[in-house]
Amino acid sequence: MTREFHRIGVLGAGQMGNGIAQVAATAGLDVVMIDLDEAACAKGLATIEHSLGRLVRKERLSEADRDAALARVTTGTSMEAFADCDIVVEAVVENLEVKLDVFRTLDRICKPGAILATNTSSISITHIAGATNRPDDVIGMHFMNPVPIMKLVEVIRGLATSDATHADTCALAERLGKTTVTAADYPGFIVNRILMPMINEAVYALMEGVGTVEDIDVAMKLGTNQPMGPLTLADFIGLDTCLAIMEVLHDGLGDAKYRPCPLLRNYVLAGWHGRKSGRGFYTYDK
Ligand code: NAD
Repeated sequence: MTREFHRIGVLGAGQMGNGIAQVAATAGLDVVMIDLDEAACAKGLATIEHSLGRLVRKERLSEADRDAALARVTTGTSMEAFADCDIVVEAVVENLEVKLDVFRTLDRICKPGAILATNTSSISITHIAGATNRPDDVIGMHFMNPVPIMKLVEVIRGLATSDATHADTCALAERLGKTTVTAADYPGFIVNRILMPMINEAVYALMEGVGTVEDIDVAMKLGTNQPMGPLTLADFIGLDTCLAIMEVLHDGLGDAKYRPCPLLRNYVLAGWHGRKSGRGFYTYDK
């Protein structure tokens, strides 16, 4: 039987989590957004308010619809609030142990039949599903950044994901105004299997002095007709996330061509995580 979605849980109020919460609330779903502390929730909520405000100014959303969407979002710090959600989308840090732990908890809290989705960029859905007693209800729902703007959701089936969970997840993504593609559960899926080695190679080119940050970006932007250069994009995604994805590709595919660039590692060690930390390959006003 086809599931109906009225209430969605979003775990993590960061870049991706607040974007997912925004598109869900705008599509008429009640949203419960949970993070570790009140400050992270407040920051996520402020980002949603700011983003919806911009849509109102551009006359793409009425003030009444903005207010209604905001009224549908509640936040908190306890996952117990997910008990009556029809689906939970996890968007916490890209770290296997953290995600396994979170899914054990979601499995305990969420009602039977609720879909447990992960926004992971690269971690095995099958592995995450193995932390639960309902692997057929677990699926990858990989939104792109920034969620309100990017049209794609990559849907990833774990080995045990049921046909119904897959169909219902695709239907939900379409209700959120997205186009879906389905990927098999291999490291990086489709998008990051192809995108991240390009970004990593751009960092190698920088490390080896092949070009400056600006020249590498302009070369790729104008030379290959991409909307932004790979180093700008890396800052946007988050360098910690880029490194985590490269580690997954390297470990999972076992090929030296996926080795993370040492310079990328150094930036992450320095805490230069890109736009979200104020500094990456470029510097930003916080
Ligand atoms: P982020 O650092 O902006 O946000 C992560 C949030 O999760 C933070 O607010 C943090 O406090 C919270 N968090 C961490 N552990 C938690 C826990 N146990 N319980 C509740 N909250 C917790 O990261 P992001 O860029 O939003 O990435 C989140 C996920 O989305 C990652 O898996 C990432 O790979 C994936 N993703 C990222 C992008 C991107 O471009 N940034 C794109 C697609 C997918």
